[in-house]
Amino acid sequence: MEEVKSPKKPLLYYYGIVLLVIILFNIIIQPILLQSQIIEVDYGTFMEMIAEENIGSVEVTDERILFTDKDNTTIYKTGVMYDPTLTERLYASGATFTKVIEGNSSTVLNVFLSYIVPLLIFIGIGQYMSKKITEQAGGRNALQFGGMGKSNAKVYVQSTEGIHFSDVAGEDEAKESLAEIVDYLHNPDKYTEVGASMPKGLLLVGPPGTGKTMLAKAVAGEAEVPFFSISGSEFVEMFVGMGASKVRDLFRQAKEKAPCIVFIDEIDAIGKKRDGQIGGNDEREQTLNQLLTEMDGFEGNNGVIILAATNRPESLDPALTRPGRFDRRVPVELPDLKGREEILKVHARNIKLADGVDFHTIARMASGTSGAELANIVNEAALRAVRDGRKYVTQADLEESIEVVIAGYQKKNAIMSDSEKKVVSYHEIGHALVAAMQTNSAPVQKITIIPRTSGALGYTMQVETNDKCLLTKEELENKIATYTGGRAAEEIVFGQITTGASNDIEQATKLARAMITRYGMNEEFDMVAMETVNNQYLGGDTSLTCSADTQKEIDKKVVALVKEQHEKAKSILQKNREALDRLAQFLYEKETITGEEFMGILKGGTLQ
Ligand code: ADP
Ligand code: ZN
Repeated sequence: MEEVKSPKKPLLYYYGIVLLVIILFNIIIQPILLQSQIIEVDYGTFMEMIAEENIGSVEVTDERILFTDKDNTTIYKTGVMYDPTLTERLYASGATFTKVIEGNSSTVLNVFLSYIVPLLIFIGIGQYMSKKITEQAGGRNALQFGGMGKSNAKVYVQSTEGIHFSDVAGEDEAKESLAEIVDYLHNPDKYTEVGASMPKGLLLVGPPGTGKTMLAKAVAGEAEVPFFSISGSEFVEMFVGMGASKVRDLFRQAKEKAPCIVFIDEIDAIGKKRDGQIGGNDEREQTLNQLLTEMDGFEGNNGVIILAATNRPESLDPALTRPGRFDRRVPVELPDLKGREEILKVHARNIKLADGVDFHTIARMASGTSGAELANIVNEAALRAVRDGRKYVTQADLEESIEVVIAGYQKKNAIMSDSEKKVVSYHEIGHALVAAMQTNSAPVQKITIIPRTSGALGYTMQVETNDKCLLTKEELENKIATYTGGRAAEEIVFGQITTGASNDIEQATKLARAMITRYGMNEEFDMVAMETVNNQYLGGDTSLTCSADTQKEIDKKVVALVKEQHEKAKSILQKNREALDRLAQFLYEKETITGEEFMGILKGGTLQ
């Protein structure tokens, strides 16, 4: 990314250096120069010179006496002694003399030492810290000390890295919505003639890694206009008031360069609902208010288009999303099967592929992954090819890297005892067999029992032939049964249970809960929502919206539902005990089994 940084230092910096030189001169050089001209003598000489009336002027302090001879050619110095008649004798000798009150002679020096030097030290530390902070932030936030947000403000223009719509695969709906903006930037007259004004702000909403930043860059790239970018979290920093001044700076620069695109990533960092809590984040609210003011301040047709991205749209302040501000919302969802295939192809443009690489299969295997993960999968595959000393990427590379990206690398020296390996084989086959025996469940694509760096001991890749939009109640129940299949196999074969099922338990519970509280799949509750989803794109946390009594009921129903499916899984496995043994044995020996091998062994035996 090309960052344009202003190299100018605040003026104060130069003043500081000049001041420092002057002070050094005063403190060190001048006394040395003076020192060299002063001759130190004993008190007797002083008394003699008084007696001889060879004295010009005298300066007495508590510690020393400075005096000159009659013609003022030399300065002498001596110590102070008890000498009550000194003043009379001096007067008699015709000398001019003064007593200097202690400290007076060095007042100027004292001011320097006690006020200006510490001040300079503080400024020095400030400069050092600001440099450090700037470095830590990758040179992104030039801290504005002294200049206070004007002289050395950050320049927010960034390169779009040549990204165009053709680089963003899938996301056709989002592209369509944004193409209008591009058209407007190319040809604003067409719109003003009719009296239409462009939305000032567009909100790109979707899970992380789905290409929101890419889309914003692509809009600027297509329209060939400058691209201003800042992340919401950059606004809110340690120095109060900086956020608002950064917003002002950003918009001032943008208006100068209009038409242009302003992109605010992670807008939720500043745009959270203002709830008026005590101890709320004042800094954030000021920044948000400044942003709202700026957005209201410019007319619809001045050519500054603001794009913002967030993955928590529900947490945004309603003031931001009302018409006239971010009035258009562009969903950027996880890619579907076709989208995944296209994204893989876009990223595979730059790598050498072996013949017969089938991206459709890879896309099917990588269900639920985001664009960023798919880009990562392609790159991992290329790295794997290099490790193997090949010049091209094979299907196997791509398949393995799906597992790497989702489950982590193979643990090369993980120690899994023989009996553990057996348990894991049965556990994984348990899942797969239950899935395969239930007509509506997806068949497995591949199972491995190689420990992964993510901590998983085995890995089952299920394949959905199509992306499904709707799931029936039965399909959901079958899914729960499949989750419990691993534990069920352990129970049937070994008569004991292990910790290996913790993730399965979590998943099964989540699904069962959702069926009862959100999907209305329980007769008693009918179509009443017991839970709401707080965060659609990040993990999908939920909060209960029912009474405590109902909560108890829900818990009971969840347990009953999972239990029922667990029993079902057990009975499936018991009925197919022979196939279970054969499959588990195969997996135990080979450590990996593909979907075809699985179905072959299953059909080879007695089917029930
Ligand atoms: P977001 O801003 O939504 O978190 P980014 O735009 O930063 O995601 O995407 C991260 C990376 O993922 C991109 O650099 C790109 O390599 C890849 N990527 C994501 N979505 C797509 C897509 N639709 N087409 C091609 N590449 C994508
Ligand atoms: Zn499991």
